[in-house]
Amino acid sequence: MAWGDDATDSRLHGTQIAESVIDLIGNTPLVRLKRISEIHGIRSVLAMKMETTNPGGSAKDRPALEMILAAERDGLLQPGGTIVEPTSGNTGVGLAIVAAQRGYKCVFVMTDKVAPEKVQFLRAYGAEVVVCPVAVPPDDPQSYYKVAERLTHELQAFRPNQYANPNNPAAHYASTGPEIWRQTGGRITHFVAGAGTCGTITGTARYLKEQNPNVQVIAADPDASVFSGGSGRPYLVEGVGEDFFPAAWTPDLYDGVIPITDERSFLTARQVSKEEGILIGGSGGMAVAAAIDVAKQAGPDDIIVVLNPDSGRGYLSKVFNDDWMANFGFLRECDECVAAVLDARGSTPALLYVNPSHTVREAIEVMRANGISQLPVCKNTPPFAAAEVAGSVDELELMEAVYRDPSVMGMPVEHVMGAKLPTIGVGQKMSLAVDMLDSSPALLVLSGGRPLSVLTRTDLLSYFEVIAGAEHG
Ligand code: PMP
Repeated sequence: MAWGDDATDSRLHGTQIAESVIDLIGNTPLVRLKRISEIHGIRSVLAMKMETTNPGGSAKDRPALEMILAAERDGLLQPGGTIVEPTSGNTGVGLAIVAAQRGYKCVFVMTDKVAPEKVQFLRAYGAEVVVCPVAVPPDDPQSYYKVAERLTHELQAFRPNQYANPNNPAAHYASTGPEIWRQTGGRITHFVAGAGTCGTITGTARYLKEQNPNVQVIAADPDASVFSGGSGRPYLVEGVGEDFFPAAWTPDLYDGVIPITDERSFLTARQVSKEEGILIGGSGGMAVAAAIDVAKQAGPDDIIVVLNPDSGRGYLSKVFNDDWMANFGFLRECDECVAAVLDARGSTPALLYVNPSHTVREAIEVMRANGISQLPVCKNTPPFAAAEVAGSVDELELMEAVYRDPSVMGMPVEHVMGAKLPTIGVGQKMSLAVDMLDSSPALLVLSGGRPLSVLTRTDLLSYFEVIAGAEHG
């Protein structure tokens, strides 16, 4: 760090004035999670690496700096040049900070899955942000990878490409690893972190294992991501998990991968924030959830370090918004909730649906075979993300459409489908369901962030009938 004594300006000698914000990147503190340890009956030392104290508020300041310095060295970035990167936000902030100091322009590309605060955040640093739909395949020209490719070419920009850039893991090898080693006096036994580009976990793991090969390195992963054996979808935690294996993925360095659900990630983020007074994001919650599992198995002398990549400030409209959490089926608001109606229906069958490309005839057959009148239209295959619901079809509307034009029967439902069904969380109040069914014949019930079932007026009537029967019986 170029504090006063190292500065070129002699007026700064003997001061503790950093040369620029770049010199404040890294050297983040470690803090014990004592209350979380008490709550979960953990006897070992569980400590969190607080990457929130980086100037950009996340671990990504480190690779951002390293990638730009390397590009300057390699002649890939000229004075006044432009940086283009597809990023969920944190890498963008890091790049924007370093770019501001060194006089570069930034254009960031991200998906509409990202919390709106993150987009505003980057614009505040003077960057340009292009938002692309998340629900398109990676080779679609609208996908954020493809848009970034096109812009890089058009603007003749430098593309750090954090997913392939060796300076991403190298940044953590050079700083995060040595800091943790020093801060634990070389006594760390377990390191737990989420993995996105895998820069953090791989760089840190490589350094720690070089010091002591017995240090256990555990990746925390969204339960639908490829690192823990999923397909890459669907999950809601931001910044971690992937649908492909990035260049820095180095399984030889990891002793385990722990899959964590969105629900547990979000509830743990809220618990850490409330109990410890440390506001952390969903991927930090995911990492802590995995660290809790590791710590429960560990001995009393073990030191477990979990890396928290960013702050909960970027997720106030989602993880820390009770209405959003309840609507996605992550919170239970009451005992008399929607779940009770589903329970009363007996075993909940798998969600019935059609794809946008299914024909109207096929949709009618599914409805007839199951004695139902509405179907959600969902992209991909189950389990679905709430965002993969494209619309709905209704028996009555289909009947009218086919009556007007019989050729509709063979058309894909996407040409005739209606609006998406309104959603309600499995833990939301039954009274809300009653109100909502006033204006819609059916609701889509979400649980753990995913569509679970369709709830109709008939379901509620049957439930009330059972209750009334029980009271009189
Ligand atoms: N959490 C968040 C919020 C992130 O933005 C990232 C970076 N994509 C990570 C965790 C994972 O870090 P890495 O890319 O180094 O694997």
